[in-house]
Amino acid sequence: MATMSRSGYGSDDEDSTPAMRRLRRLSLHLLQPSDRPAPEGANSLVPAACAGRRRAGGLDADAAALTAYLRGRHRATQDRLYRFFVERPELHTPVELPMAAHRELCFRQMAALVREAGVRPLSLMADDPDEYFAVMEAVGGLDISLAVKFGVQYSLWGGSIINLGTKKHREKYFDKIDNLDYPGCFAMTELHHGSNVQALQTTATFDSVTDEFIIDTPNDGAIKWWIGNSALHGKFATVFARLILPLQGKGGEPADMGIHAFIVPIRDLETHAVLPGIEINDCGHKIGLNGVDNGALRFRSVRIPRDNLLNRFGDVARDGKYTSSLPTINKRFAATLGELVGGRVSLAYSSVGILKVAVTIAVRYALLRQQFGPPKQPEISVLDYQSHQHKLMPMLASAYALHFARRYLVDKYSEMKKTNDEDISADVHVLSSGLKSYITSYTAKSISICRESCGGHGYAAVNRFGGLRNDHDIFQTFEGDNTVLLQQVAGDLLKQYQQKFKGGTLSVTWNYLRDSMSTYLSQPNPVTARWEGEDHLRDPKFQLDAFRYRTSRLLHSVAARLQKHMKTLGGFGAWNRCLNHLLTLAESHVEAVILARFIEAVKR
Ligand SMILES: Cc1cc2nc3c(=O)[nH]c(=O)nc-3n(C[C@H](O)[C@H](O)[C@H](O)COP(=O)(O)OP(=O)(O)OC[C@H]3O[C@@H](n4cnc5c(N)ncnc54)[C@H](O)[C@@H]3O)c2cc1C
Repeated sequence: MATMSRSGYGSDDEDSTPAMRRLRRLSLHLLQPSDRPAPEGANSLVPAACAGRRRAGGLDADAAALTAYLRGRHRATQDRLYRFFVERPELHTPVELPMAAHRELCFRQMAALVREAGVRPLSLMADDPDEYFAVMEAVGGLDISLAVKFGVQYSLWGGSIINLGTKKHREKYFDKIDNLDYPGCFAMTELHHGSNVQALQTTATFDSVTDEFIIDTPNDGAIKWWIGNSALHGKFATVFARLILPLQGKGGEPADMGIHAFIVPIRDLETHAVLPGIEINDCGHKIGLNGVDNGALRFRSVRIPRDNLLNRFGDVARDGKYTSSLPTINKRFAATLGELVGGRVSLAYSSVGILKVAVTIAVRYALLRQQFGPPKQPEISVLDYQSHQHKLMPMLASAYALHFARRYLVDKYSEMKKTNDEDISADVHVLSSGLKSYITSYTAKSISICRESCGGHGYAAVNRFGGLRNDHDIFQTFEGDNTVLLQQVAGDLLKQYQQKFKGGTLSVTWNYLRDSMSTYLSQPNPVTARWEGEDHLRDPKFQLDAFRYRTSRLLHSVAARLQKHMKTLGGFGAWNRCLNHLLTLAESHVEAVILARFIEAVKR
C-alpha cells in the first residue's frame, strides 16, 4: 500500500515527467496482466505467454479456502483496515519523505486507526491478544514504522500498565492509553546497557518524608537511550530503575531492591512542554523506521508519587516497608521481564507478515519476468530456472511453516494470559525467545534474497524491498537481541536435560525431547540407518524424527562439553567456550518445533 500511491497508476500530471513515465512502465511488471490498466503505448510491455505459465495452468489450488484457513477469523478485521487505509490516500507513506514529516504522518496514521477506524488496541491486547496481533500485522502493511510505533504505545507502554501494574493503574491509565490521549514510552535500555537489563543504573529512591520516589540518572551511561515515542509524542514513560530504600540495607546503608518499573510523566498534559528535571534528546535519523521518534531521557531528581510504582510484584508501604510475594531479587526480576513477552510475540508475528509480503512480491515477479529460453521459442519465466526455484520455493514453504508456528505461539500466549499458569508461562517465555529470534533472522536474510531475485527492479525503492529490509532489520535486536535470546532457549533445554537425569518431569512442550532422547540416544542416526526411498524421505514422521534426533545429539554433546570445561574454566568460561554449539542447539530445537507445527497444520 505504501508504494501504490506513487507507483505510477496516477494522474496525467504525474505521468508528465520522463521519470514518472518510466516508473509507471516498470510497475506494470508487478501486476497480473488482467489487473493492468491499458495505457496507450504500454502494449509492448505485456509479456508473451511463456512455457512456465502455460504449464502452471493445471495447478489445482483453492485459494479462497486456503486464505480462510490461514487467516481465520481475523480476515474480516484485516480487510476492513486495508480498505480503511486504501480509501485514505493522504495517510499513505510516500517513498520519499523527510524524517520530521514521516514522524508526524505516523502519529496521524495511528490516531486515524484509533479515532476514525474505531480500533481499541489496548482492550484487544487485554481481552483478545490474537486479534491484537492481527491488527498490528495489518497496520504494518501500511508502514512498518506505524506497526512499531503502535507496538511501543500498546504492547510496551500499555502492556507495562496491564502486566506490571495493579487495579489502581488500570483505572487511571487504561482508557486514555487506549484512545491515544496518553501517548507513552517504555524506557528500559540505557546508553551502556541494552541486553544486560539487570545492570541498569537509573535509580528510584524512596523519600518517606514526602511519600515520593526520586528518579535519577547517575551518570551519562545511564541515560535512557533509543526510547520509542519519547523524542516527540510521549507524555509518560514507564521507567525501569533500581529501587533504593534509604537506611534499610546492612549497617543502615541504602538497600538496593533491584529493577522495578515506575510511571514517570515526561511532558505536560496541556502544553506538551518537557517537565522540569527531564532532559530529552533526539536519537536522530536511523537506517529505517524513521516514522518512530526514538529519543534519550535524562532524569535529575524527578519526583513522582509512591503510587507510580508498578507494584504487581513488589510494593513500598507509606512507612517505606517493602513487600513482595516473591522471595528474591532474581525471582522478581524474572517475573517482571516474564510479563513483557507480549512484545516479543508481536515481533515474531509481524516478522512473518513482512516475510509474506517480500516472498509474494518476489514470486509474482518471478512468474511474470521472462529471460532467455530454448532456441527459437518464447522466453521463459525466471521461476522456471532451477536456481530461482531453489531460492524462492523453500522460502515460500517456510513462510507457511512460520505462519503456523506463530499461530501456535499466539495460542500459547493467549492461554497463558487466561490461566496465569506457571508452566505455560515458562513455556511461552522460551518459545517466544526462540521463535522471535529464528523468525526475524530468517526474514532478514530472505528479504535480501527476494530483492536479488527481482534483479535491478528489486532495487527501485518503489518496489519496497529497501524499506522492508531497513525497517525490519532491527527486529533482530530489539525486544531482546537474537543471539542473547537463543542462549535462553539453550539454557532452558539444558535445565530440562538436567532434570531428566535427576528424575524430574519435562514440561509439555519439551515432551518430544524425553521421547527422542530415550529413543535415539540408544539408536543409530535415523538418516543413515534407514532406507533411502522417496516415500521414506518424504514421510513427515521420518523428517520430524531426524530433526529431533539432531536436537537430542546436540543437547547431549554440549552437556558433556560444558561439564568437561566447567572444571577448568568455571561456569561462565565453559558456556563461552561452547557458545556456538549452544546456539546451534537452540536453532535446531526451534526448527523442530516449527516443523512439528507445520506437519500438524498440513494434516488439518
Ligand atoms: C530503533 C530502536 C528502537 C528501540 N526502542 C526501544 C524502546 O522503545 N525502549 C527500550 O527500552 N529500548 C529500545 N531499544 C533498545 C533495544 O532494545 C536494544 O538496542 C537491544 O536490547 C540491544 O541492546 P544493545 O543495543 O545494548 O546491544 P548489546 O547488548 O550491546 O549487543 C551488541 C552485540 O553484542 C552481542 N552480545 C551482547 N551480549 C551477548 C552475549 N551474552 N552473548 C553473545 N553476544 C552478546 C549482541 O548479539 C550484539 O551483536 C531500541 C533500539 C532501536 C535501535
